[in-house]
Amino acid sequence: MTEVGAVEVRGEGGTSEIVLLCEHASNHIPERYNGLGVSDADLQRHIAWDIGAAEVTRRLSEALGAVAFLGGYSRLLIDLNRPLESPNSIVTRSEATDIPGNINIDDAERTYRVETMFTPYHARFTAHLNARQARGLPTRIVSIHSFTPVYHGEARQWHGGVLFDKARAYGEAVLDRLREPGLMLGANVPYQTSRDEDYGIPIHGDDRGLEAIMIEIRQDLISDPTGIDLWAQRLSKAL
Ligand SMILES: [Zn+2]
Repeated sequence: MTEVGAVEVRGEGGTSEIVLLCEHASNHIPERYNGLGVSDADLQRHIAWDIGAAEVTRRLSEALGAVAFLGGYSRLLIDLNRPLESPNSIVTRSEATDIPGNINIDDAERTYRVETMFTPYHARFTAHLNARQARGLPTRIVSIHSFTPVYHGEARQWHGGVLFDKARAYGEAVLDRLREPGLMLGANVPYQTSRDEDYGIPIHGDDRGLEAIMIEIRQDLISDPTGIDLWAQRLSKAL
């Protein structure tokens, strides 16, 4: 059950209450965009995708028997976790890197990216949620992300965070279950979710009355198979 394009769907027959999102799974940019004018080295960095997040999501999908929806394109083309009205939907600069291929794009190109990359991903996910609702299945949404250890020159000490808005009780329970000695975790770190700059949690979760949280893992902790396994195991017990 795998589709690759705007969305990769895994484990759709799973029976878990949890449905997984991984909006920043891929750094794929179709060839005709010439990497949006960004160097190959920069396209391997966090600005293009959430390093390690896709692999953690795939492992979790298997471990939990949970369906997972992974984005098929780089966030630099259009960010699946930003409202279309956000100035950060299609960025012209990410942290300290200019994105030349996004400067002065016309309405036709913007519409093309919305219609072929953003809308199909969210429509596929909405259809799945609608089908679950029709069958009366309980649903909790968990969105998997990773963050860079250094952002705008500032080191981030957190190993990970659980982010939520309305799903406070579930978010705090997951955080408690994740805690272990030596692990620096927090609620709503390294940043806070907001309706202005996030999409999955407010739109698919809070607005539908479904519990929805984001998991943020520092990317150097999930940049190799050992770390990916460890975090997938931790999360499979905590979610
Ligand atoms: Zn992310």
